[in-house]
Amino acid sequence: MLRRIGIVTLVAVLLAPLQFACASSDAALDSYLQHIAASLPEKVAATLKEIDGTPRRLLAARAYLRAGDELRSRWSWSTDDIQAHARSPEYRALLEETERVRARFEAQNPGYTLYANTEARSLELQVTRFNSNKSVAKVAASLHQQALAEIGKPGYGSPERAASVQRFKQFLTEWRPPTAAPLAAPGISRHGQLRAIDFQIMKGKAIVAPTETATVKRNWDTPGWTKKLQTAMAGSNFRGPLESPYEPWHYEYDP
Ligand SMILES: [Zn+2]
Repeated sequence: MLRRIGIVTLVAVLLAPLQFACASSDAALDSYLQHIAASLPEKVAATLKEIDGTPRRLLAARAYLRAGDELRSRWSWSTDDIQAHARSPEYRALLEETERVRARFEAQNPGYTLYANTEARSLELQVTRFNSNKSVAKVAASLHQQALAEIGKPGYGSPERAASVQRFKQFLTEWRPPTAAPLAAPGISRHGQLRAIDFQIMKGKAIVAPTETATVKRNWDTPGWTKKLQTAMAGSNFRGPLESPYEPWHYEYDP
């Protein structure tokens, strides 16, 4: 018993400096993130603050840096903006276009129908989903690990040095994920301005092909729904589906 406690204590003592090193490196990454946030539009910086944990914040910051000048024009609507848009002629046109696609799909696939989510995804909802999605966590962890290695490279000074921040920004912008995250960073989802619609295949009240990445082959590709939905889209203002991440249900809309 005593020996066991001895080993546990020894391991704890040995690991303590390591934990301290991790904590202080995260503090350095957070400091880089703060400098990056200061260079972003105010509402973007405010959203970055609402993202949980350094790894996810790194992933979002990367997306914001890559969006560059498009950040302002692409920025998602708030719940109030969405309600105002719901009264616009543009929204009516989108509903009509969706209706035409649905009618075509039903004529081509008797017994089945198409469900379209024609609600914009608010900024608030995007933050909640980004903070809780497990696949996002995985991609973020991979970036986090490489970001720690990056700032440990020789030549990196303190995060207070402009040259170090510049170099770290470049690293983030150029970083490529092993697989694309299944959600866009909060604020820049195409769903946030209703520039994208997700469709599902239904039979009566049952969902035959849901918007679910894990079952995409089984529910979309193998039964042929990917192709059939594409066929129904022909001649419409919808473009797609999304290639990366692969989402055969996701179509972009150009009014
Ligand atoms: Zn989508």
